[in-house]
This record gives sequence, C-alpha cells and structure tokens, in this order.
Amino acid sequence: MVDLHSHTTASDGTYEPHQSIRRAKEKGLRALAITDHDTVAGIKEALEASERYGVEVVPGIEISTVDQGQDIHVLGYYINYQDPLFLSRLESLRNVRDKRNEMIIENLQHLGIDITLEEVSSRRKMDEGNIGRPHIAEVLMGKGIVSSMEEAFREYLGKTGKAYANPPRITPEDAVDWIKEAGGVPVLAHPGLYGDDNLVHRLIGYGIEGIEAYHTDHSPEQESRYSLWAKQHGLIETAGSDFHGERNGVIFHGDLGTRRTSYETVEKLKSKAEKRAEG
Ligand code: AMP
Ligand code: ZN
Ligand code: FE
Ligand code: FE
Repeated sequence: MVDLHSHTTASDGTYEPHQSIRRAKEKGLRALAITDHDTVAGIKEALEASERYGVEVVPGIEISTVDQGQDIHVLGYYINYQDPLFLSRLESLRNVRDKRNEMIIENLQHLGIDITLEEVSSRRKMDEGNIGRPHIAEVLMGKGIVSSMEEAFREYLGKTGKAYANPPRITPEDAVDWIKEAGGVPVLAHPGLYGDDNLVHRLIGYGIEGIEAYHTDHSPEQESRYSLWAKQHGLIETAGSDFHGERNGVIFHGDLGTRRTSYETVEKLKSKAEKRAEG
C-alpha cells in the first residue's frame, strides 16, 4: 500500500525526511510521497533513506494557492525537483509565505502578545525549507499563550482567528500549470476541506489530472463522491494521510498510512509523468 501525502521538517512536519521513511516502513507502506508545502527541500534526503528502509519515495509538492480568499492546495507528483524555473517559482512562493508570516506576527504583537519574527524563524530546519502557521502555533504554546494547536488556530491563526492574514497568492490554475511545466502530475488536495464543489469542477475543466478522494479529514460520503467524480472524468484517485508528525504528542490530520491506496496508483502517476516527459 502507498500513502501519497506527507510533510517533513522541510515545511511544517516534525519528522525529518529519513524519519518519515522509517515510519513508513514500520507502517508497512511500500511507497510514501513527500509533499511539503511550497518546497522540495526534503526530497533528496528521503530518496537517500529510501534504499536503506526499502520504501519507495514519490517526489512531490503541495502548492499553496488562494481562490476567493480561500486556501486551496494543489499536489504535484513526479515533478522535476531540480528544474531551475520550478525552483525559482517555489522561491517566490516562499517569499509570499514569509511576508504572510510577518503580517501574522505583527497582528499578534498588536494584540499585545510578546512574540518576535526571530523566535518563529529560528524554527526553520532546512535552507530551502519554510515556516508555516504550525511553527507560530508552537511558539504560542511554548509561551503558554495557548494550550493546544487547535486553540492556536481557533483563536489566532485560522481563517476566523484574531491574527489571521492571507495576502494574494497564485491561483490553483497557476499551480496546475507550474506542476505540468515541471513535468509533474497535478492533483487537487483534500477537496472536502474547501466547502466549494464548484471549484472542484472548475479545476477538472482546467485540466487537473487527479483528485485526492481519500484524505484523513474526509467523511465517508465525501470519499465516495470524489471517488465517483474522479472515475467519471477519468482522473487518478489518490489517498493521503497528510502526516505532519506530532506536536505536543498530538498528530494533526493522520498518522502515516491512515489513508492509503494500492501501488497501482503510483504506477498511474509515474506513467502520466513519463508521457509528459516524452512530450
Ligand atoms: P500554512 O501553510 O502556513 O498556511 O499552514 C497551514 C497548515 O496548518 C496546514 O497544512 C496544517 O498542517 C496546519 N493546520 C491547520 N489547521 C490546524 C489545526 N487546527 N491544528 C493543527 N494544525 C493545523
Ligand atoms: Zn501543513
Ligand atoms: Fe493541505
Ligand atoms: Fe498537506
């Protein structure tokens, strides 16, 4: 079985890439996709650990986009993670992310919370890795301002939180184009989390090539609906736990393997990417 969605310390996961691969082995997975937010910085280390643990690594990415004020995530598989244009595009996304983080921290400061950009930035683990809201939440927990991740997002960092900020980013369509131009296969991440099925149809029309029908936070009804749509439109159905490791002993989304699918899905993704490479 394979799990096609996971985060490492290259973005907001708490497991280093080699630790994720070891855990994937322990969970009996044949393959694991590394899909960090807006960075491919964890892939090399994961590939190195791949042979050691006998777990195949699917190189991936999860690109953050915004549509009508709503965060939309687009997964990309088998992207050429050394492609210079793709890398410079990711760098631009990380710049927007840094700016967003600064805005949130300023908002927190205006609320009278003692927090600095340096405290948050020092949690970055890799050179081309990045900082996300979970890192800000960690600092808030460390200071006793909130007692859980859930509280941090509810009170401050989530869409209706007091310090929320979300500057414009690229659109989901842009992400689909970037992933294809980098030789990869674009897949809509966790469509059930957006509350907007029009968007799902819009992206199917635009040329997305897969749907993450199975995700830790999807209900059984959502899973069957998105699975059906994928079949009807000839798209690849994927499954992912969205593993982020543990914070305060709690796993957000799910543990590796919580959502999984057969190895055949990896073969479908690979063959789509190979066809793209042949032009
Ligand atoms: P960012 O990419 O910086 O916008 O942060 C988004 C990430 O925050 C998501 O990928 C989740 O990992 C995490 N997240 C969102 N809501 C929560 C929550 N309630 N508890 C823990 N983590 C969350
Ligand atoms: Zn995340
Ligand atoms: Fe996501
Ligand atoms: Fe994710």
